[in-house]
Amino acid sequence: MSGILFIVSAPSGAGKTTLVRELLSRDDQVHLSISYTTRAPRTGEQDGRDYHFIAMAEFLAMRSRGDFLESAEVHGNFYGTSRVWLEKEIAAGRDVLLEIDWQGAQQVRRFFRDAVGIFIMPPSLAELERRLRGRGTDDDETIARRHLAALTEMRHVWEFEYVIINNELVEAIGDLTTAVHASRLRLAPQQARHPELFTLLVQKE
Ligand code: ADP
Ligand code: 5GP
Repeated sequence: MSGILFIVSAPSGAGKTTLVRELLSRDDQVHLSISYTTRAPRTGEQDGRDYHFIAMAEFLAMRSRGDFLESAEVHGNFYGTSRVWLEKEIAAGRDVLLEIDWQGAQQVRRFFRDAVGIFIMPPSLAELERRLRGRGTDDDETIARRHLAALTEMRHVWEFEYVIINNELVEAIGDLTTAVHASRLRLAPQQARHPELFTLLVQKE
């Protein structure tokens, strides 16, 4: 039995962290992959909960050992997904969610063709800018860099199956949980979850 791999991407500030946190609090079947990063922790972020915060030398050593399923440089910092953790979770039949950028999403799809891509869009560029500033954790230069990167990120929306427009938060949370639920109702995951029923009720041609 194998679980579903969800890839959630968004331009920085669109509300990905907020929406994913809400999803996880409602759905204990989804397990979040904690990425490794060379970025410094923001106020309130905890090592091992938000990210595994590591030094550049350690990141490079892990990358050259092949510890990452995917890795990328985003906004001048390095990020990577643990290969061993993810393969173990999926093989054990658990659903896993990756919060990664478009570069990582492309790499992961080479190994997991059935991954379900969910892209989160802001309702407008002005609102994206407002949210980036409102978060109050980044300086002007960082915000300008993230704004530019947001335009690049959004050019990759075509590579995803579901699109959530995060305008009204409550509505967007509903949309995200619905997309996850719908993904579980596809034929392959249903067959994997109910093998006896399929054997009993469905005759082979
Ligand atoms: P990301 O993880 O995509 O960078 P965050 O989840 O950190 O984005 O959200 C960026 C900011 O926007 C945060 O201050 C968050 O509270 C706010 N935010 C998120 N979703 C909404 C929404 N639907 N309406 C208004 N503000 C929002
Ligand atoms: P932040 O620094 O705001 O938490 O994240 C910045 C960007 O890095 C976001 O677009 C996020 O999706 C991406 N990111 C976080 N973890 C990973 C990862 O493990 N791999 C890749 N490729 N991108 C990541």
